[in-house]
Amino acid sequence: MFNDNVPYKIYLSEEELPKQWYNVRADMKNKPAPLLDPETMKPIRAERLSSVFCEELVKQELDDTTPYFDIPEPILDFYKMYRPAPLTRAYFLEKKLGTPAKIYYKFEGNNTSGSHKLNSAIAQAYYAKMQGLRGVTTETGAGQWGTALAMACSYFDLDCKVYMVKCSYEQKPFRREVMKVYGASVTPSPSMETAVGRKINEQFPGTGGSLGCAISEAVEAATSMEGYRYVLGSVLNQVLLHQTVIGLESKAAMDKYGIKPDIIIGCAGGGSNLGGLISPFMGEKLRGEADYRFIAVEPESCPSLTRGKYAYDYCDTGAVCPLQKMYTLGSGFMPAATHAGGLRYHGMSSLLSQLYDDKLMEAVSVKQTEVFAAAELFARVEGTLPAPESSHAIKVAIDEALKCKETGEEKTIFFGLTGTGYFDMMSYEKFHNGVMKDYAPTDAEIAEALAKLPKVE
Ligand SMILES: *Cc1c(COP(=O)(O)O)cnc(C)c1O
Repeated sequence: MFNDNVPYKIYLSEEELPKQWYNVRADMKNKPAPLLDPETMKPIRAERLSSVFCEELVKQELDDTTPYFDIPEPILDFYKMYRPAPLTRAYFLEKKLGTPAKIYYKFEGNNTSGSHKLNSAIAQAYYAKMQGLRGVTTETGAGQWGTALAMACSYFDLDCKVYMVKCSYEQKPFRREVMKVYGASVTPSPSMETAVGRKINEQFPGTGGSLGCAISEAVEAATSMEGYRYVLGSVLNQVLLHQTVIGLESKAAMDKYGIKPDIIIGCAGGGSNLGGLISPFMGEKLRGEADYRFIAVEPESCPSLTRGKYAYDYCDTGAVCPLQKMYTLGSGFMPAATHAGGLRYHGMSSLLSQLYDDKLMEAVSVKQTEVFAAAELFARVEGTLPAPESSHAIKVAIDEALKCKETGEEKTIFFGLTGTGYFDMMSYEKFHNGVMKDYAPTDAEIAEALAKLPKVE
């Protein structure tokens, strides 16, 4: 079965690990719109951002022109614990589908935190350490980012304070306890520790919290404690930059065997794995060296690209973070409590939003029951148990492969498999018991949230 002169898995050596991250903004004609200061509604200055974020990360955030950033040696050393990750040819899936398409995927779940988020967590922890900080604060929803950051902070001996969305804190004890194994302190959000948390608790007694609210608490904690900064696991340019290690590694493996993907697919929450996956390929497209189709896959319950509006919006409920121009459903939008927690964010990275607006990337939304059906099909033939978030990409990769079966086209399809599903068995249980529902917001619900977008200019 493993014919075609391509191995089942393509492994790179340690020496072949990318030594630089690639900043696709350098090759974009239309740059992402600048972040705005929530107080003045003017483009934010680096000094203001530095009270919230680490200095080096602020530089990366605002740099639209430098194409490559060296990956510091200590980060490369850490990467070697779980990278390079092999590029896998999904021969078994192809056979099962009976498709002439060639399918490849890159699995990012082979580390204890279980997802790609560790690629940026270790970078952010490193820069915080180099700045001489005592610790960092953050929010986590389903817990993947908090776990990754806890691992990264323990490696560099930094204090790690995580605000975990309250309903996840109660429903996901395993994630919570893994964070504690790595020495993080975990607080259910909204808490009574911060002014914004107390206010939200007063306004919405008994609320299970939200990501936007946990962000506001983490930012307040960071800015009110000496020697702390806030770090974020997605959405920002700096996070996409760190995640380009995924795309660069994939590209290096493909170049070894002359593989050229026609379609590149990734799930999109805040956009970090997708941005990191497609960046080197998008760079080629932007420079006119090659052409690819890129597809962002989002949940039907939180369709920021496919049904949102391209506008300036707040990144958090408390409106303490800078504003970002992005495809958004409105920062007041409350997505249904679906089973892909990592994709429940009201907005999308400004970089990906710009690429999408320039028609350089496509987007589709999918139903969660279809996603779980695709996840199981994949697990049964390929062996790996995928995270619900990752399975959004599987679903669309399968759809595209089945289209090839109809037309007889031998396209090459490549998708990012962002994480493991070991911590999501409650969701799989709902799927097995037939009690999982699909949910799409109504036009009225989206319009209501969009009506509250901040007025800019
Ligand atoms: C967080 C997460 C995502 C979505 O985040 P992006 O920033 O959009 O990449 C996807 N998959 C997994 C497994 C995650 O943990």
